[in-house]
Amino acid sequence: MFGSFNSDAEFGRREPGMKMQSLLELLERDGILPEEAFVELLSGRSKEDEAYAAKRAREIGDCIYGKQIYIRGLIEFTNYCKNNCYYCGIQRENSHIQRYRLGKEEILLCCEEGYKLGFRTFVLQGGEDPYYTDEKMIDIIKAIRNNFPDCAITLSIGEKSYDSYQRFYEAGADRYLLRHETADVAHYQRLHPKEMSLEHRMDCLRQLKEIGFQTGCGFMVGSPFQTNKELAKDLLFIHSLHPEMVGIGPFIPHKETRFAKEKQGTLEQTLFLLSLIRIMEKNVLLPATTALATIDPRGREKGILAGANVVMPNLSPKAVREKYALYDGKVCTGEEAAECRFCLENRVRSVGYEVVVDRGDYKG
Ligand code: SAH
Repeated sequence: MFGSFNSDAEFGRREPGMKMQSLLELLERDGILPEEAFVELLSGRSKEDEAYAAKRAREIGDCIYGKQIYIRGLIEFTNYCKNNCYYCGIQRENSHIQRYRLGKEEILLCCEEGYKLGFRTFVLQGGEDPYYTDEKMIDIIKAIRNNFPDCAITLSIGEKSYDSYQRFYEAGADRYLLRHETADVAHYQRLHPKEMSLEHRMDCLRQLKEIGFQTGCGFMVGSPFQTNKELAKDLLFIHSLHPEMVGIGPFIPHKETRFAKEKQGTLEQTLFLLSLIRIMEKNVLLPATTALATIDPRGREKGILAGANVVMPNLSPKAVREKYALYDGKVCTGEEAAECRFCLENRVRSVGYEVVVDRGDYKG
């Protein structure tokens, strides 16, 4: 069915931009394109195509979520990790960082401060840290659930068993973020040690959905060895999983990793992918990430204008923020939560949107 749209016969006599526009229209209509068409879109995009995609993405987002931007309070509660993802600054083998853990009371204090600032979602993110047994996690989740009954709880703590996920859900967690990182097996293997597998990560994602979590996958833009073919596969995977959330941000090298000398992902490609994801998965909750804000001083605003509808400022205690360094140069490590909150409100307002006090659930 797509072959005809893809052929030169269809597009031969049009302006170059017209073909891209038609592909974007098809993507909007069908929610998917064949892999080659995605590659074509990603390889051939012009400034005009980027602007057109962003405009459609914003119109679609506005239709579903209005001018509202959801905020999530990110609590980075441990930087210990048993894994050794080659790109990540908190990988097990990095002996140059000071490790830390937050206890239940400290986490609850972050939530309390966040609640006063209008946050109604708390995201607990960390390395895969065996210190936090299922019992400890369940205790923390239940405490947040009891103290903040009108808030959503999101977990981002990596690969666990079905049984653990089920118990976290029953304890009161609502959402789970687990980026698939790349949907190509060979690429996955070049970014991770051999004890990790894409198959297992994808299984986890399917299990999370089955259990009933609002589930988020995602990937880094411009990660080492990534080409448009891998990105096309990422988009196809997103379509097949149909997640409630998608997290993407530019890859940024970390000096203590083997990828220290690699190039970072670009602003333009990240923005274009945000637009494609919005056009494709119309209702998806799509953050303008901290990594995006790190590579461009107005990254968050630009992310919103490209189709994002979520921002996740940091609620971690100031003393630990710099220690949760997945990549170099992370922004907003020096500010208090309240400062971040108001800075963000102004940024969002500057592009015609408003931060709302809301759990910000997926609108299906
Ligand atoms: N342990 C959790 C949380 C991982 S950190 C888990 O496994 O899901 C959250 C995300 O940060 C990762 O999924 C990865 O996509 C991103 N990340 C890690 N290192 C990065 C880097 N150098 N540049 C940009 N993003 C990075």
